[in-house]
Formats: sequence, C-alpha cells, structure tokens
Amino acid sequence: SVPLSFFAGIGGASREGILIKGSNYLETLAKVKYVVFDKTGTLTHGVFAVSDVHHNTLERERLLEYAALAECASSHPISRSLQEAYGSKIDRSRVSEIQEISGHGIMARVDGSQVAVGNEKLMAKQGISAIPCRSGGTIIHVAIDGSYAGHIVIADVIKVQSAEAVAELRSAGVRKLVMLTGDGSQAAQQVAEKLRLDEVHSELLPSDKVAQVERLLAEKPEQEKLAFVGDGINDAPVLTRADVGIAMGAMGSDAAIEAADVVLMDDNPRQVAKAVRLARRCMGIVY
Ligand code: ADP
Ligand code: MG
Repeated sequence: SVPLSFFAGIGGASREGILIKGSNYLETLAKVKYVVFDKTGTLTHGVFAVSDVHHNTLERERLLEYAALAECASSHPISRSLQEAYGSKIDRSRVSEIQEISGHGIMARVDGSQVAVGNEKLMAKQGISAIPCRSGGTIIHVAIDGSYAGHIVIADVIKVQSAEAVAELRSAGVRKLVMLTGDGSQAAQQVAEKLRLDEVHSELLPSDKVAQVERLLAEKPEQEKLAFVGDGINDAPVLTRADVGIAMGAMGSDAAIEAADVVLMDDNPRQVAKAVRLARRCMGIVY
C-alpha cells in the first residue's frame, strides 16, 4: 500500500510544475546523490546567438543560408539559432532528402547541392577535414558537394539559474554533479568550470551518454540514486537508463516526456533541486 503522504507529495509537486509519474519515483528522488545533466538546453539556454561566421569559399550570407535551409526541419537548438541568424523566411521547396544524424548534424540537398551541417565527426564521415579553429563556442562546420565551405561559431549561454541549482543540490546532500554533452570539449569545459561540476564528458553520442550513466551507476553505492536531467533532444535512451529520468518539459520532445519519470513544466534547472527537497521532506529525510 502507498502511504497517504505520497499522494500529498505528488500533488504538492504538481502544483509546483513538477510532474512525478509514480510514488516509487518520489522514493528514488529522495535518495538522489548523483545528478547527471545534459548541457545544451538544460544547463545552457540552447537558443544560441551566432557570434561569428568564417567562410572559405562562400560569402557569409550564403553560408548561413545553406546552413539554415539544410536545418529547416530540425528542432535542435542549433537549428533554431541558425534560423534566427539567417533571419529570412525559408522556402522549404528548395530543400530535400533531409537526414538528421544524432550527435553529428544534418545532411540535406539544398538547391540541388549536397549540404552537410554539423560537427567535426560529421565532416570526418564525409571524408572532409574541417579547418581547425579554437573558439569558446559551439563550432558548426558546413560542407557543400563534398568540399569544406566554412564554419559558424555559436555562443552558448549558461542559464542564470544553473549556478543556483548546483548550490541548492549540494546543500541538499547531492555529492556528485556530472555533465554529459555531445558538444566539443572546449565549450563543455568552460561550462563545467564556471559551474564547478565534479565531472564533464564531451563529444558524446546518445549511446555514449548511456555508457557514462552505466559507469556511474556501477560506481555508486546501491542505496544512493542517480538522476539524469535533460531537455529531451537526443536524451530518451539515457532518461530511461537512470534511476530517475527528469525531462525539462517546456521544450522537451514527446519521446522524452514519454521516457522520463519526472517532467518539469518549465526549463529552470532549480526545479530539479526543488523536486529532490520536496521528495526528501515527504519521505521524512531532513537536510
Ligand atoms: P548536447 O549533448 O549538448 O545536448 P546533442 O547531443 O544534441 O548536444 O548534439 C551534440 C552535437 O552534435 C552538437 O554540439 C553539434 O555539434 C552536433 N549536432 C547535433 N544536432 C545538430 C544539428 N541539428 N545541426 C548541427 N549540428 C548538430
Ligand atoms: Mg541537449
């Protein structure tokens, strides 16, 4: 039987915009000592500002146009920032054969040309060597018809609530904070250092994120529980694998809301700390 206080806990949480899918997850949340975050869209805004366009063969506007067109069907934050930077209306009839390759980027035919937009891994897959560039931002390379065309640097911004969330989780007794990201190591390190996280792992594919969570699950004592927090884009497998999967609902995909055990109505990472504290109070654990 389920104690009455569990119903009160789940009801109280829902009024705070925290949807808990069952009383067992309230128990698990109360025991959370490891919190693993996705980066883009979770600890950072994800709607980036394009800060710089470097081009080799094309003009800046053309490079952005090809990238924005190729990305026209993607709901990834990178796509949204490229659409915004391009700023003009997209004529979708110019784009066909769109393929989104998770953790890599986009392949599409634009005005009859084969366009690739994504990270170094995507370029390597095409046998194209991206011109190395050092930058604090997320670097998106563009290739057209098999030739390197240039790159776009996107500045990702840490959410103001992320630092507060980290402090609140630590004071609630969470002892390990980890960030997993598909983004490059430089951009990842900057965020992890600013937020003083315990571990950061970058350049991960969705399956690598699962492997990292499995390693952490094996490392921690059985009675301590692990939560994964993501915005939903490419996160479904890892949300399922964690002891408790937390999806930030506002922007999260249907697949993530389905895969998650806890859904946060808005994308404020402080809600994670609130959920843990609420669960602990409900289970009679005082910090
Ligand atoms: P994160 O783990 O930070 O949330 P993702 O796993 O969603 O990031 O993506 C990892 C990386 O894959 C991105 O940083 C980018 O380099 C590349 N990528 C993914 N989707 C796209 C896309 N639609 N367009 C361009 N690049 C993409
Ligand atoms: Mg993400």
